[in-house]
Amino acid sequence: MTLTTQERAFLMASIRDIPDFPKPGIVFKDITTLLANKDAFALLMRHLSERYSAYNLSHVAGIDARGFIFGAALAQMLGVGFVPIRKKGKLPYTTVSEKYSLEYGVDEVEIHIDAFSGVEAPKVLLIDDLIATGGTAYAAASLINKVGAECVEACFIMGLDFLGGQNRLGELVEVYTVIGVD
Ligand code: AMP
Repeated sequence: MTLTTQERAFLMASIRDIPDFPKPGIVFKDITTLLANKDAFALLMRHLSERYSAYNLSHVAGIDARGFIFGAALAQMLGVGFVPIRKKGKLPYTTVSEKYSLEYGVDEVEIHIDAFSGVEAPKVLLIDDLIATGGTAYAAASLINKVGAECVEACFIMGLDFLGGQNRLGELVEVYTVIGVD
């Protein structure tokens, strides 16, 4: 199901802009208003589940923390497993980690070393709410590959197109964004 222009506009209108959060100059895209709107949430999830039903996925992997919400819902709809990719220090078992640079300093994401065990040739969709510079998603997709799975696509509800993150991430994996922001 491709979204009509009106449906895309409806989804976009359901996401709230918070200027100067978490610091001056950043316009934070708040997806809690989309989640609270049952029609917007249902439309989005129907769109994603129809898109990915033919991908023959074994898992959906979500990025800490908003990627968990969309990722877990989508995994259930597709009848596949869900794997969390978390910020450093949160996962209890043996992990594999990947550092990535932020505007100031570095951050790190982790995955359980056996996240996709028990499945032959795991095919994974990576999901998060938003791609900005693409650094987080690049590290997350690298982790999926590092633990022996294939990351077939990275999906985002929103993309801040002007930051070029999709081009950068596109060198590693196919990228799909539901709503692009110029
Ligand atoms: P990046 O690694 O630069 O692509 O940043 C992506 C991560 O930071 C995602 O997990 C987003 O949820 C979060 N993020 C970055 N910029 C914004 C923004 N303007 N609004 C909401 N979330 C953001």
